[in-house]
Amino acid sequence: MIPKFDYFRPKTTEELVDLLAKYGEDAKMFAGGTDLFVLMRDRLIRPKYVIDLKGIEELHEFSYDEKRGLRIGATVTLNELLESDVVKERFGVLWSAAGALADPTIRNRGTLVGNICNASPAADTAPALLVLDAEVEVAGKGGERTIPIRDFFIGVKRTSLKPEEFVKAVRIPNPPAGAKGGYYKWGRTRGEDLAVVGVAALVVNSGKRIVRVALSSVFKTPLRVPEVEKVFEEEGPLDEQIERAVSAVQEKIAPITDVRSSKEYRIHMAGVLTRRALKELFGGS
Ligand SMILES: Cc1cc2nc3c(=O)[nH]c(=O)nc-3n(C[C@H](O)[C@H](O)[C@H](O)COP(=O)(O)OP(=O)(O)OC[C@H]3O[C@@H](n4cnc5c(N)ncnc54)[C@H](O)[C@@H]3O)c2cc1C
Repeated sequence: MIPKFDYFRPKTTEELVDLLAKYGEDAKMFAGGTDLFVLMRDRLIRPKYVIDLKGIEELHEFSYDEKRGLRIGATVTLNELLESDVVKERFGVLWSAAGALADPTIRNRGTLVGNICNASPAADTAPALLVLDAEVEVAGKGGERTIPIRDFFIGVKRTSLKPEEFVKAVRIPNPPAGAKGGYYKWGRTRGEDLAVVGVAALVVNSGKRIVRVALSSVFKTPLRVPEVEKVFEEEGPLDEQIERAVSAVQEKIAPITDVRSSKEYRIHMAGVLTRRALKELFGGS
C-alpha cells in the first residue's frame, strides 16, 4: 500500500505555482508517475501532497518550428515522441533513446520530462538531450528561467531545480545540417531494464567531422564527453580518431559496481558501444 497523501489536479500553471509555493518540499509532482509511485510504494519517499500535472493543457504542447526547433511539454509521453515523424527524421538520437526506454506500456505513461527530473544516472533520454544541446524551460513563484541541459543534472537523482519550481518543457534546437545520431544501450536483458551503459552519439560527416558523445550509467550524472569533440577538431584517419575517442570516453567516466554490472565491465562496454556507434554513424561496418 502507498502511504496516504492529498491529491491535487491543477488546471493551470498559475494554480500549480501556488501549490508549489504553499507546500514546497512536502509536495511531489507527477506526469506519468512511473518513477514517483514506485518510490512511494517502496516507502523511499512519503510526500504529503501529490500534484498531478496532466490536467494542465499548456504542459501537453508538442511543437516543431523550422527556426526554433522542437518543444516538448512536460506531459508529452515517450510514445507520443516515438509516433512523431519530425522526431524520427530530424532528432534521430532522441527517437532512438525514447525507443530504448522500458517497454510500450511504460512509455505510454512515462514522459521525457519525468525521465530527466527523476535524474537517474541511467536515464535513457538524458544523453540524447546532452548531445542535442537541449534547454529546460523552468517556472515557479520567482518567474521563468532556462537551464541548459548540461547544467540541469547536479548529482545522483539531483537537479538544479528549486523545490518550488517545475519544468514546463524541453526545447531542442535543430541539430547541425547533415547530422546523424543514435542511442546504443547495453542492458542485462533485451527487454525492459535500466542500462548497464548507454551511449548517445551525434555525427556530421560533411567536410569537417563533428562528433558529440554522451553516456548514461557511467557517472553520478548523465555525462557528455567534450574531449571526444576535440579529437575530431583536428584532421586525421577516421579509425585512429575513433580509437582516440574510445580512450577519451574510458578515461572520463567513473562508473560504480552495482547489481547490474561491475565497474570494469561498464568501462569495457562504454568503449565497445562508443566504437560501434561512431563506426555505424560514419557509415563503416
Ligand atoms: C518497469 C519500469 C521500467 C523502467 N525502465 C526504464 C528504462 O529502461 N530507462 C529509463 O531511463 N527509465 C526507466 N524507468 C523509469 C521511468 O519510467 C522513466 O524515468 C520515465 O520517463 C519517467 O516519466 P514519468 O512521467 O512517469 O515520471 P514521474 O514518475 O511522473 O516523475 C518522475 C520524477 O520527476 C518529477 N517530475 C515529473 N514531472 C516534473 C515536472 N514537470 N517538473 C518537475 N519535476 C517533475 C517527479 O516529481 C518525480 O520525482 C522505468 C520505470 C519502470 C517502473
